Amino acid sequence: MSAARSAGTGSRAATAVSRPTWDEDVAWQDRALCRGANPDLFFPPQTFEKKEEREVREAQAKAVCAQCPVRLQCLEYALTTREPFGVWGGLNETERRRLQERSAQRAAG
Ligand code: SF4
Repeated sequence: MSAARSAGTGSRAATAVSRPTWDEDVAWQDRALCRGANPDLFFPPQTFEKKEEREVREAQAKAVCAQCPVRLQCLEYALTTREPFGVWGGLNETERRRLQERSAQRAAG
């Protein structure tokens, strides 16, 4: 999924506007730096992707995220909605899952 692919808006974050869990707070999406970026950078292809290819792709996506003025909002959204795929807020799905696991461990004491 990506906004640029599915909605034609140029922002992958904008695809989530229809989601009821966060549609009251979407203004940050207007400032998403991935608007107009190649959405294929942010999500794995439908076909097999070698580890090296994935690393290159994700590094390019993360470079965009690193400059994005709404990175934290994007990451918060991805964590809240448990986005299963792609680079959001500069983290891929594995990194987000680890972040959530560490947060849960800290909360548990
Ligand atoms: S942090 Fe990355 S994925 Fe999120 S809106 Fe910005 S550029 Fe797009």
